[in-house]
Amino acid sequence: MAIFTNRRKENVEGNFYVDSTCIDCETCMILAPEVFKEDGDASSVYNQPSDEQNKIRALQALVACPTHSIGLVENLPETKQVRESFPILIEDSVYYNGYHSEKSFGAASYFIKRENGNILVDSPRYAAGLAEKIKSLGGVKYIFLTHKDDIADQDKYAEYFGAKRIFHEEDFNRHLPSAEIPIQGQEIFRIDEDVKIIPVPGHTKGHTVLLYRDKFLFTGDHLAYSPVKQHLHAFRNACWYSWEKQIESMKRLAEFNFEWVLPGHGRRYNADYPTMRESIGKCIEWMGKK
Ligand code: SF4
Repeated sequence: MAIFTNRRKENVEGNFYVDSTCIDCETCMILAPEVFKEDGDASSVYNQPSDEQNKIRALQALVACPTHSIGLVENLPETKQVRESFPILIEDSVYYNGYHSEKSFGAASYFIKRENGNILVDSPRYAAGLAEKIKSLGGVKYIFLTHKDDIADQDKYAEYFGAKRIFHEEDFNRHLPSAEIPIQGQEIFRIDEDVKIIPVPGHTKGHTVLLYRDKFLFTGDHLAYSPVKQHLHAFRNACWYSWEKQIESMKRLAEFNFEWVLPGHGRRYNADYPTMRESIGKCIEWMGKK
């Protein structure tokens, strides 16, 4: 829970504030950019919400914040309804979970509702209300984990839903030393026709991405959109295994069709196939210069 006396001095006066526990994960700036912005090495409120929509987005950020660093001087009655609004539909049957976890460095996670078994993509922090809501959507058959950094409370969700975890063995670690469905090597792994899991070593050795219906690409920490560069990009300063391998992986990914990039960290991107292809081409070119 945010503490008012630890409120950052950069916040403007008003009901919403960010306290000093912020880890600068960007989640609030992505969800409510009209309210939160980076100031120094943390977020602060630079505009109080000016209308109902702004207020709801700011409350979504409050619920999603991995460190509970966003506070209210006076409680708002809408908070309960916003809490219960997660997971939030993105498009078709793909949802954004909110409830980011500090254990995943604040990474986003997603939920796919599908006929042959729902999939949790990376793990949100465990919240009973979110688990209940996901249960009402049919529960979880598989938990797909892109890589070892974004596994958060996967163990609790696996137990709650009796779900099978899908995870590349190169990223097994002390927090997750095995998985019900281990992935090995560099071959594409399929769960049914509509789900492809593609190994993309680079950020970590065992990083994989999931392509659903040749439309939604869940990219973990491999790929995200940069509003500054105006094209897709990768995190050069957070590449833990091999930048050269990550470039090779990016070239492999460029051979697939998709319309959505849904990352763990950074911005989502939605575009038609040709525009997406052009953007990933710019990303590869940019990566080669770094
Ligand atoms: S979501 Fe929370 S931790 Fe992340 S930048 Fe905003 S206030 Fe900081």
